[in-house]
Amino acid sequence: MRTLLVAGNWKMNKTFQEAEVLTEQITEAVEKLHLDSVEVVLCPPAPYLEMVLDLTDETHVAVGAQNISDHDFGAYTGEISAPMLRSMEVEYCIIGHSERRKYFHESNELLAQKVNSALKFGIAPIFCCGEVLSEREGGNHLDVVKSQLEESLFHLEEKDFRNVVIAYEPVWAIGTGKTATPEQAQEMHAYLRQLILSKYGERVAEDAIILYGGSCTAGNAFNLFSQPDVDGGLIGGASLKGEEFVEIVRIAIDCT
Ligand code: PEP
Repeated sequence: MRTLLVAGNWKMNKTFQEAEVLTEQITEAVEKLHLDSVEVVLCPPAPYLEMVLDLTDETHVAVGAQNISDHDFGAYTGEISAPMLRSMEVEYCIIGHSERRKYFHESNELLAQKVNSALKFGIAPIFCCGEVLSEREGGNHLDVVKSQLEESLFHLEEKDFRNVVIAYEPVWAIGTGKTATPEQAQEMHAYLRQLILSKYGERVAEDAIILYGGSCTAGNAFNLFSQPDVDGGLIGGASLKGEEFVEIVRIAIDCT
């Protein structure tokens, strides 16, 4: 039985004070739940990492960054590297979010370097993949995600790949209120697991955590998370509302 994971991607939202309130609200509520088979991760904006780490210290809530440099140290003004995050005890990092691919032109090749740097310093990548609408309408969605995995992840040795969480995020569903149907999500997740099986074998594929992301809310989480190959969610908009995010965590517990 795989662990389910629910991660909140706050993107570039909230003031410091609002983020403090949200962190406290989520952490207090999550601590009252039985989280044996569900992991919760908060991914705040980088300047808030320290504060969120402090408020979640010794709780069941883990912390992730939203981005990472492909370099370890050096003259890269404004960047944040894996060893820096590791020295703060950040455990996860979102890599390859479609907004970074689109607005910051991050290629599969660059993302492979980011994945390498994260893993080298013990940070688990939450690696995002997914097709844009025209690719789905053109029937190319499976090929697109296949290339994303092959070019950014499949160079990894098995022991490293085991530390990667995959998030399937159809770009047309992100922040649009338009969710993939449970059947569309299951089709893609089963396909991703099959790709992992072909590359790394059955045990790695069985253990791989594959999240769904794209307008996931408390209203649709149950139908998505109860699909056999959907192992939780990467939640954007709904993670900014404490009560709804905690409700999504509760739904994940019900699905285990
Ligand atoms: C995301 O940005 O990863 C995401 C899934 O956003 P939303 O839930 O708002 O669609």
